Amino acid sequence: MKKAKVYLMDLYTQPGLSLLKKLKNLLVRSGINDIFNEKEIIGIKLHFGEDGNLGYLRPDYTKVIVDLLKEKKCSPFLTDSGTLYHGRRSNAVEHLQIASEHGYNFLSTGAPVVISDGLIGMDFKEIEVNLKHFKKIKIANGIYHSDGLIVFSHFKGHSGTGFGGAFKNLGMGAAPRPGKLEQHSDTVPFIKQDLCTSCGICLKYCSVNAISYNEQKKAVINTDQCIGCGECLAVCRWGAVKNKYDTAGEILIEKIAEYTYGMWKEKKEKMLFVNALIDIHPDCDCWDYNDVPLVEDVGFIASIDPVAIDQASYDLVQKAGKISSSAYFDKIKDQDSIFAGMTPEVDGTYLLKYAEKLNMGSRNYEIIKV
Ligand code: SF4
Ligand code: SF4
Repeated sequence: MKKAKVYLMDLYTQPGLSLLKKLKNLLVRSGINDIFNEKEIIGIKLHFGEDGNLGYLRPDYTKVIVDLLKEKKCSPFLTDSGTLYHGRRSNAVEHLQIASEHGYNFLSTGAPVVISDGLIGMDFKEIEVNLKHFKKIKIANGIYHSDGLIVFSHFKGHSGTGFGGAFKNLGMGAAPRPGKLEQHSDTVPFIKQDLCTSCGICLKYCSVNAISYNEQKKAVINTDQCIGCGECLAVCRWGAVKNKYDTAGEILIEKIAEYTYGMWKEKKEKMLFVNALIDIHPDCDCWDYNDVPLVEDVGFIASIDPVAIDQASYDLVQKAGKISSSAYFDKIKDQDSIFAGMTPEVDGTYLLKYAEKLNMGSRNYEIIKV
């Protein structure tokens, strides 16, 4: 069986050979110049980091990607979609603000930031996949309409999925709010009464009139009427509408794989995956903190195969030196998986096995050192 190619760049440098130059070499070797062409509008899917979290990737790395795409006369843009939870990235205005605070702007990277699912996360396109959990998936419109995509992911732990890499960045990260909702939950949203200010916005926007006021003039959702569209989550400025996050374990993992499948199916000839195996914290960049990393930094890897890149990331991280000051060191020092300390019940590699069955790529790969 043919092995997928995964290109690896370590972090050793010397005068005249910076990490940025090495990253450029990595991208060229992994075929960036053959994948993208003049006049194409190329999205670079990123995570700009949540307030308080310093684990997000430096904009300097992204500028290397932007510069290469511009040399090819492409029009690159940096992109993400809004969050399901109520935070600094839950609407495009605040999302653009925090991206800029974290150094992601035109001046520093040479490319604009575009929030791909619009002002409140409701701007999307549905496409057919006909899989086990979803007949259709929802893709943020900006990503759907791009000519190609570089999925630039920070590889680290994740409490729900074991680890987060290319699949998490694309499958969940490029989904609009209703897409995130249907991945995270099998039930409809609910309203936290003490946070409801009775502003009435959700009543106005619910297309099936599933929301009404109770006797205390607090909004309540009629679960029989609700179609789970997520509009109320999007429009409530007070964070009163909540999702139950009641999909977990293998179901959540399969759903993320199916969402990624839909996005990959649309653009598979025009995609490059780049994973940064640095600052490998126990949990994702959506949190408002970043704990001591679990292992030493490894480097950057790139591939056109989403399964191979996440499998290689996982394997390389398992071999990296464990950091004894990590809060999880005692739990993981004798474990096979360094992610087992946080989520012993979740095997993140199940996602890659499921994706392999969907013919998205191969867990069998060869590492080519650049
Ligand atoms: S939008 Fe939020 S605060 Fe306003 S009525 Fe609905 S739940 Fe209450
Ligand atoms: S999820 Fe959609 S259908 Fe359900 S209550 Fe909210 S706005 Fe109405």
